[in-house]
Amino acid sequence: MKLRSRRIGDYDVAFLFDGMFSTGIDSLVHARGPAAQAEMLASRSGTTIEFEVNHFALRGPGGLTLIDAGTGPGWNPSLGQSWDSMRQNGIAPADVDRVLLTHLHFDHARGLLDGDKPYFPRAEVLIPSTELACYTSEAARLALPEARRSAFPITAAIVKAYGSRIRAFVPGEIMPGIETVALPGHTMGQTGFLLKGNGETALFWADAAHMGDVQTADPDVSTVFDYDPKLAARTRWWLFDRAVAENWLIAGSHLSDFSRVRRVGQTYGIAAG
Ligand SMILES: [Zn+2]
Repeated sequence: MKLRSRRIGDYDVAFLFDGMFSTGIDSLVHARGPAAQAEMLASRSGTTIEFEVNHFALRGPGGLTLIDAGTGPGWNPSLGQSWDSMRQNGIAPADVDRVLLTHLHFDHARGLLDGDKPYFPRAEVLIPSTELACYTSEAARLALPEARRSAFPITAAIVKAYGSRIRAFVPGEIMPGIETVALPGHTMGQTGFLLKGNGETALFWADAAHMGDVQTADPDVSTVFDYDPKLAARTRWWLFDRAVAENWLIAGSHLSDFSRVRRVGQTYGIAAG
C-alpha cells in the first residue's frame, strides 16, 4: 500500500487507494468523431487500459473531510480497498465529519454505503446541486440508455441512507480555503475542488481526465464514461490551460500521484508534481 500525502494550505491531504480499474481500449472515444477515434486506437498498443481509483482525506479546518468515497467492498475484486486504506490512514468511519462528492458515479460514491446503511455514521454528504438534480430526475434517467443508468440507483440509495445529512451545494467557497470548480462533461454536475493556501493551489479534478498522459497529449480523447464527450473535451482544454497558467497541483481520482500539467507544443503533458 502506497501512502501518499502532503500538506497543502491548512490541510493534510492523503490519497486513499481503492484499487485498479481496467477496461477495453475501445472505452476511449474521440471528440472529433469516428475517423479520429480509429486513428487514435491504431496508434496505441495493447487491448486494455488501466487506471487507479482513489479518493482523498483532508485533515484541517472543520475536522476530517473526505473527497469522494471510493467503490467500497463487494463490487469488483480489483477495487473496493478504500475502507482498508482509511483504516491504514488511521481513519475510523465515525471520525469522518463530511464527504464532498465530485460526482455520483459508483467509484466515487458507492463507498458511502454499507449495504443499504450509511457507512459513515456522523458524516454530512455534500453533493453538487446540479449533480443531485440530474441523478434524482426520472426524465434524465429515461433519456439515457440502460447501460448508462448505474448512477441513478446509487444516488437513490445514498439519499435514502443519509436522509437529512445530504446537503446539495451551489458553486462557491464551501469550506475554509476550498472553492468549487465546475467541470461539466464527464457528468453534467461534476465539480472539482480548489484548495488554496501558503502559496500552493491544488485542484481535485475528479474525472476531468482518467488517463493523465493520454488526455493531456490530446484533450479531445474522452471515454465512454463521459456523459457528453464533446463537452468533456472542451472542459479539458479550458482546464489544462488554467492548470498551466496557475501552476496548479493536480490531485485526480484516477491519477497515481500529485501531478502538474505543462504545455507541450500545441497540447499538454503531465508529470508528478
Ligand atoms: Zn471515476
